[in-house]
Amino acid sequence: HETAAKIAAGEVITDPGAVIKELVENSIDAGSTRIDISIVDGGKKEITVMDNGSGIMSEEVSLAFERHATSKIHRLEDLYELNSLGFRGEALPSIAAISKVSVKTQSRKEDLGSYVRVDANKTHIIRRSFSPGTSISVEDIFYNTPARLKHMKKSNELSKDIIQLGENLALSHPDISFSLTVDGKTVLKTPGDDNLHNCIYSIFGSEFGDSLISIDYENKPLMISGFLGKSNYTKSSRKYQYTYINNRYVKDTKISRAIEEAYENSIMINQHPVFIVNINIPPHMLDVNVHPSKTKIKILNESLIFLLIKDGIRKTLRDNTT
Ligand code: ADP
Ligand code: MG
Repeated sequence: HETAAKIAAGEVITDPGAVIKELVENSIDAGSTRIDISIVDGGKKEITVMDNGSGIMSEEVSLAFERHATSKIHRLEDLYELNSLGFRGEALPSIAAISKVSVKTQSRKEDLGSYVRVDANKTHIIRRSFSPGTSISVEDIFYNTPARLKHMKKSNELSKDIIQLGENLALSHPDISFSLTVDGKTVLKTPGDDNLHNCIYSIFGSEFGDSLISIDYENKPLMISGFLGKSNYTKSSRKYQYTYINNRYVKDTKISRAIEEAYENSIMINQHPVFIVNINIPPHMLDVNVHPSKTKIKILNESLIFLLIKDGIRKTLRDNTT
């Protein structure tokens, strides 16, 4: 079953970025207001995610590393109504199957926390006190799966991907203060004051000048919030297009294209608008269960939703033309 665990792990944990995504989603689920990420060597040597969230209660610490022990899905309907990001109880066991994991965690409700080390599928727990929250370190990813280790990208490419991921996580949660440290250097730090504009500014500085207009559109069942680049303001790549569905980063060309089409008359060939938008769609209109890494999304009533998205973008652009 150790082999099975490793294979299953490969489905969820494809690279250091996937580890970070899973750990940060757990931190978000734990109600953290501050999340500090650090990586060494593109995350190959070490990844640490530290939060100030709920912590893990002593009695639940060992369960957290058992496959599916923490699954939050008990009925099919739960899939749709679930608001937390994690629901499979699969991430921590998967990470532990392919790396060396240690955890420091302390619940506010208890006097003592836990220091946990997982190796070779054995969990060692020592009771100790820490400041409230959880810090998880993942060392030597894929050390026991040589084929995967061999096919990993170079450290600097991994770091680049992780910086992009950090930006996405931060931008989709302006209410959380994020930091990202790459080989000892802090490359990202957001205020966490629940103001998206401040969050954007902390990441991009004055990159966009005064070219962003805010969007705040509601047309049931859809809501769009965030910022749009003015229609006469374009970039030569799609790098500055950030789309979130229900505060979750999605990489979906169809949605990006729908937004671009709303700009239609004003956009020139090979020029792309800038946008950082969160689109709220009722969970029952989404199939979130597409893949564990979940940057793809399936909208169940796509044509209606795309129509509304375009309407929202067009109206906002029109209202801001002088
Ligand atoms: P899932 O998120 O799908 O429940 P995970 O394997 O990601 O499964 O995490 C297992 C469990 O460990 C979570 O359900 C949660 O109870 C606990 N946990 C993990 N990380 C944290 C954290 N940063 N803070 C508090 N609890 C955590
Ligand atoms: Mg999780």
